[in-house]
Amino acid sequence: MFATLADFISRHERIFVLAGAGLSTASGIPDYRDRSGDWKHSKPMEYRDFVARHESRQRYWARSCIGWPRFSRALPNLAHRSLARLEGLGRVTATVTQNVDGLERRAGSRRVIELHGNLDSVGCLDCEAALAREIMQRRLLAANPELGCLSADIAPDGDALLAAFDTSDLRVPGCRACGGILKPRVVFFGEAVPAARVAASFDALRRADAVLVLGSSLMVYSGFRFVREAARAGLPIAAVNLGKTRADDLLDLKLEQDCGAALAGAVAAAGLEAVDIA
Ligand SMILES: [Zn+2]
Repeated sequence: MFATLADFISRHERIFVLAGAGLSTASGIPDYRDRSGDWKHSKPMEYRDFVARHESRQRYWARSCIGWPRFSRALPNLAHRSLARLEGLGRVTATVTQNVDGLERRAGSRRVIELHGNLDSVGCLDCEAALAREIMQRRLLAANPELGCLSADIAPDGDALLAAFDTSDLRVPGCRACGGILKPRVVFFGEAVPAARVAASFDALRRADAVLVLGSSLMVYSGFRFVREAARAGLPIAAVNLGKTRADDLLDLKLEQDCGAALAGAVAAAGLEAVDIA
């Protein structure tokens, strides 16, 4: 067992980091789940609904369009910067993130595997065409100018929480190459994580001597499986998460704290280097 997170960090050199929504809450991107691990709001879009139903795509893109400006302006917080510093000190084999905001890389982390993709890109389901989410935003607003006047709170995938809004008239832009359905290049609920990303993540886990979970309840299997495998391999596991996790019984150290404060303090206290708070 470990007395503190600083103790845990200082005793391992090849840490596999698994990051979740709690890493980005201080950047203004709210978490999906409450402290007991239950959904805070309505469940996010399911893959099969998005593909099968035009109405679902209208609803998704209306919400996404309204939430995008705030989502795309989000900046890395203390937790992202502390994690980048830890990697810069050579202590991180990989950061496998469940987040789709790209803030780990923007903070300077390089060994990042975006398990669920990144919301900054949109792809066609019928051909290989892809476009920047920013371009999709312009096309959405050009086709539906009324969306530009609306604003709402956002969920982790940039989906605005817009319960009572009639989206039946929304015009959803299609692929300019083939007319096919455009979808953000993120893994929706009910959709499989690409096999290459899973394999790369397990590769990193095999090189690791410890696992650190940051801001994830691990309720989604795509992340939980790495912790389960780490436990099977006998790796020490620590977690910083506000609330319970699916792996609480597998943890050697659990901190119910804000990720930024916990990680910045631990990196500094581990004697690695003072973390730049500014
Ligand atoms: Zn296409």
